[in-house]
Amino acid sequence: MRIIVTGAAGFIGYHLCLTLLHAGHEVIGIDNFYTGSKGNIEELGKLPGFQFIESDVRHEIDDDGSSIGQIYHLACPASPVYYQKDPLFTLDTCYLGTRNVLEFARKKSAGVLIASTSEIYGDPDVHPQEEMYRGRVNTWGPRSCYDEGKRIAESLAFEYQNCFSVKVRVARIFNTYGPNMNRADGRVMTNLILSALQKKPMTIYGTGRQTRSFCFISDQIEGLIQLMNSSCNFPVNLGNPEEVSILEVAHIIKELTHSDSSYEFYPLPVDDPRMRCPDITRAKQLLQWSPQVSLRQGLEKMIRYYEQPL
Ligand code: NAD
Ligand code: UDP
Repeated sequence: MRIIVTGAAGFIGYHLCLTLLHAGHEVIGIDNFYTGSKGNIEELGKLPGFQFIESDVRHEIDDDGSSIGQIYHLACPASPVYYQKDPLFTLDTCYLGTRNVLEFARKKSAGVLIASTSEIYGDPDVHPQEEMYRGRVNTWGPRSCYDEGKRIAESLAFEYQNCFSVKVRVARIFNTYGPNMNRADGRVMTNLILSALQKKPMTIYGTGRQTRSFCFISDQIEGLIQLMNSSCNFPVNLGNPEEVSILEVAHIIKELTHSDSSYEFYPLPVDDPRMRCPDITRAKQLLQWSPQVSLRQGLEKMIRYYEQPL
């Protein structure tokens, strides 16, 4: 099948393209390198069946007339540091970008998977978060460009489904980690692992008692592909329900890296969710999917990757 992956130069996009290419598909990657790396595209370019278009999804996608079976729409900065750097870019990417992708899917009669996020639940007062929960999002805080951007991306997707019968799949992705995450992207796993390896203080925001649930990249990729090929035309949570506090993650990383790094505490960012854990009953029942890689196993793999010289 010919498959488009937007955000192909990014963390999830790179791994997704790799898996699709290994399965024998033709993959067309689209990216503007806002947070993605040229190195990832060079690696993908070594595999047969990969083609790359440097382009911004805020603009209409060029149609060369060829047929497209599926589109995975991942293009959007995902790290709070980067999505807050230029909030209007993030909003435009979420609205205009998603609309352009959906319009293209409509023209091509292609199935389209939209990468939504656990952030659409905001700082939740229902725990764990199941798909029927409508969230607790601040509409004007520093995270709103991303949270509201992703919420409107979901609205657009379902309107294209309702109005034009476009086959849409919406993945609510929870924190995902693994090799090939951009070292400088500011998310917690890269920050803590790199500090531990470099024997520098590990940065903990707030008390470190806020929780997240971390899904290893191979599990996430499998979930995305299974969702795309399913008949689930409603949102599905994809994440690992193994919930940990940030301090617990830091302790495990210290242990696995044999590091004696200290902890340096910083103020908690505004609207930083106090807890997050997916209810994955829907994915388990409808996709027969559940994560297989434990936090320790995943961290070991990620640490091994970051131990290698650049
Ligand atoms: P990433 O920042 O590594 O990758 C995003 C990619 O999109 C980058 O290569 C970037 O250059 C590209 N991009 C951004 N704006 C673009 C634009 N306007 N036009 C073209 N390309 C653009 O992030 P990621 O972790 O790989 O996340 C991928 C997707 O998954 C995002 O949509 C994100 O919101 C979603 N997601 C990720 C996580 C996670 O934990 N990694 C969690 C929830 C949701
Ligand atoms: N965090 C931290 N130290 C860091 C980076 C992040 O304590 O160096 C915290 C952050 O405040 C949040 C959690 O780790 O509570 C996850 O942050 P990340 O930016 O990875 O993703 P988020 O889930 O907030 O989108």
